[in-house]
Amino acid sequence: MPDEMSRPLIRERGEGARHLEDSVADPSAPVIGILGTGDFSRSLARRLVASGYQVVVGSRTPKSFVALFPEEVEVTTQLEAANKADLCFIAVYPEHHSTLVELKPALAGKTLVDVSNSLRINQNGPSNAELLADYFPESSVVKGFNTISAWTLQMGPRDGGRQVFLCSNSQKAKNTVKAICHRMGFIPIDMGLLSSSLEIENLPLYLFPSWRLPLLCTLFLFIFFYLYNFFRDVLQPYVMEGKKAFYKMPIEVVNVTLPSVALLMLALVYLPGVFAAILQLWSGTKYNRFPNWLDRWLTSRKQLGLCSFLCAILHAVYSLCLPLRKSARFKLVNMAYKQVKAGKDDSWEDEEVWRMELYLSVGIMALGLLCLLAVTSLPSVANTINWREFSFIQSTLGYCALFMATAHTLLYGWNRAFDLRQYRFNMPPTFVLVLVLPFLVLLSRLALCVPCAAGRLRKVRRGWERSKHIRFTLPAEGCHNGLEDVSNV
Ligand code: NAP
Repeated sequence: MPDEMSRPLIRERGEGARHLEDSVADPSAPVIGILGTGDFSRSLARRLVASGYQVVVGSRTPKSFVALFPEEVEVTTQLEAANKADLCFIAVYPEHHSTLVELKPALAGKTLVDVSNSLRINQNGPSNAELLADYFPESSVVKGFNTISAWTLQMGPRDGGRQVFLCSNSQKAKNTVKAICHRMGFIPIDMGLLSSSLEIENLPLYLFPSWRLPLLCTLFLFIFFYLYNFFRDVLQPYVMEGKKAFYKMPIEVVNVTLPSVALLMLALVYLPGVFAAILQLWSGTKYNRFPNWLDRWLTSRKQLGLCSFLCAILHAVYSLCLPLRKSARFKLVNMAYKQVKAGKDDSWEDEEVWRMELYLSVGIMALGLLCLLAVTSLPSVANTINWREFSFIQSTLGYCALFMATAHTLLYGWNRAFDLRQYRFNMPPTFVLVLVLPFLVLLSRLALCVPCAAGRLRKVRRGWERSKHIRFTLPAEGCHNGLEDVSNV
C-alpha cells in the first residue's frame, strides 16, 4: 500500500512500461490534441492526462520533444495529431497560426481551442481567435485558457487562478470545452460569442487599469505634501536660522506627509457619494446619468480607500519607529539636560498629556476601522456578507473612520493653527490644509442627514421622480412596496 501511494500520478517517459493505451484514460472522453510542444503544451498535456483524457501532441519535429512529455502522451506529427484528435488545442503563437492551414481538412468539423495571447493590448480587433476562425472556417473555434499560465496548469487549479473565460459562436463546442474545464478542476466562465475574444485576449495584458487614477492621485498628493513639508520644516529653519534639519527628510518629513495623503484620500472616497446625492436631489431623479468624471470617480472608491489604507499603515509603522532614531534620543537627552540646568524638576503638562493620549487613541481607532474597510473590500470577504452589511461597513463605519482620522489630525494640530509662528514662509501648517476637505465631506454628509434632505433622497433612490407626478410613499410609511402610482404618467 505505501508503494501504491507514493507512485506518481503521471510517470515520466522511460520510468515504466505503461503506454497511452493502458493508462487511466477514460475511453468515453474525447481524444484531445495539442498542436505545439512548448511550455503551455507540456503543462496542459500533464493536466489533461491527470484528468483522464487521452492526449496526442502534434509537433513539427516530434522526435526532438517526445522525451519532454509523460509516457501516456503520444507525441507525433501535426497531421497525425490533427487526424486522431476529436478536439484540438492550438498551443502555438498566433504569428504561426497561418503555418497550420495545411491541417484544414484534418481539423474540419472539429473544435479548435485558441489559447493564444497577444503582445500588447488590441483595441480594434480582429482578435487572434477571430483570425484563427478565418483560417479554419469548417472548424468551431473556442477562445479560452489564455488567462491560465503554464505554471497554474502544472500546479493544478488549487494553487492558482481557477476561472477560465470561454467564448465561441458554437454552443456545442463551448459546452465540450466547459466539460473539459470542469474535469480539470477549473471554473468555466461563459463570455458569449467569439466577438468577446478580443476582451478575453486583452485580460492578461491590462496593467492595473482601475488603479491608474488612484495611484496617480496618491503620488501627486505625496509629492505635493512632501515638498510642502520640506519647505516648512527643513528649508525654512535653514534659510532663516541656519539650522540644519536635513536629517528630517527620510523619516520625519515622510511621516508628516503620509497621514496627510491618507486623510485626503479617505475624504476622496466619500466626496463623490456626496456629489452624487446632491446631483440626485438637484435633478429630482436617479435616472439621469452622472457625468463621466463622477462615474469614474465613484467606481474608483475602493482603490482610493486602499491607497489611503496603505498610507495610514505606513504612517503607523513610521511613527512606531520615531523613538528608535538617534536624533530622537539626542533631543531627549538634551531636553533633560537643559531642564536640569534650568533647575526644573517637573516637566509634566496636563494639557499636553491629555492631547497626546487622545491623539493616539483616536488614531489607533481610525486605523482599526480602515483595516476593517480594507478587509471587507476583498471579494472573498465581501461575498460572505449581504448588501446591507457591506454598506453598513463601507458607508457608516467608513464615515466613522473619516471622523476619527479627522479628529486625530485636529488633536495633532491642537491650537497651533492660531499660533502665528507656525506660519513659516507664510505657509499655514500642513494639518490646516489637510483638514479642509474632510471637514467639507463630513459637514455635507451631516447636511444630507437632515430629515427633509434624507427623506427626499431616499424617495429619489427608490425611483421617485420630481417631474413625473407620482404619489410616493416609502415602505416605512406603510404603503404597497413603497410606490403607489396615482399619476397620469
Ligand atoms: P513556446 O514554448 O514558444 O511554444 C510554442 C510552440 O509552437 C513551439 O514549441 C512549437 O512546437 C510550436 N510551433 C508550431 N508552429 C510553429 C512555427 N511555425 N514556429 C515556431 N513554433 C511553432 O510557447 P508557449 O509558452 O507554449 O505558448 C504557446 C501558446 O500558448 C501561445 O499562443 C501563448 O500565447 C499561449 N499561452 C501561453 C502561456 C504560458 O504560460 N506559456 C499561458 C497562456 C497562453 P513544435 O516545434 O513542436 O512544432
